[in-house]
Amino acid sequence: MAVTKTHDAASIRPVLAAGHRVFGENRVQEAEEKWPALKQEFPDLRLHLIGPLQRNKVRRAVRLFDVIETVDRAELAQALSAAMAQEGRRPEVFVQVNTGEEMQKAGIAPTEAAALVRLARDELGLAVRGLMCIPPVDEPPGLHFALLREIARRSGVLHLSMGMSDDYAEAIRFGATFVRIGTAIFGERTPPAD
Ligand SMILES: *Cc1c(COP(=O)(O)O)cnc(C)c1O
Repeated sequence: MAVTKTHDAASIRPVLAAGHRVFGENRVQEAEEKWPALKQEFPDLRLHLIGPLQRNKVRRAVRLFDVIETVDRAELAQALSAAMAQEGRRPEVFVQVNTGEEMQKAGIAPTEAAALVRLARDELGLAVRGLMCIPPVDEPPGLHFALLREIARRSGVLHLSMGMSDDYAEAIRFGATFVRIGTAIFGERTPPAD
C-alpha cells in the first residue's frame, strides 16, 4: 500500500501511472480533497483508511474508502454498520490492535481483539478482512507482528496490515499481506502528518 498522506495528486500520479492501485490515507478530510477525482479516473484503485476515525466522520469515511483499517471499539463498529446501511456501501474493515498496549495509541487491547472481531463480523455483519497494528517505535517489531498474526489466526481473519518503510521486510517475514509504505516511495514528508 502506498501511503499518500501529505502528498498531492501530482505526486500520486506517477505511482498510478506505474500501475499501482492500493493507497492509504490517515485523515478523512485530506483524502476527500484528492481522491474522489482520482477514483473517477482509476475506478479499480482501492483506498484504505489507516488513521483514527472519529464518530462524526464515519459516514464520510464509508462514502470514500474501500477498506477501513482502524476499527478499534464496539461503538465505532456499530456506527459503521449503521452508516453502511444508510449509504448503501459496504467497505471492508480491519480491526486495529494496540499490540504494545501503549496509552497514547489507538487500537484495541490484544486480549479484547478477538471479541471485537466477533462482534463486528458475526453480530453486525461487517466484512472483517484483517487486523492492523503499529508497533511501538522503541521496540523490535517482530514480537508485535507475531502477536498480530496469532490473533488473526485464532479469529479466522485473513489479512495482516503491518510494516512501514523502516520495518516492512520484517513484517513480510511474519506474514504481512499489506505493508504500508510512505517515506520509502515518496520521500520524507514535509510537513509531517503523524
Ligand atoms: C504514515 C503512516 C505509514 C507510512 O509510514 P512510513 O514510515 O512513511 O512508510 C504507515 N502506517 C500508518 C498508520 C501511517 O500513518
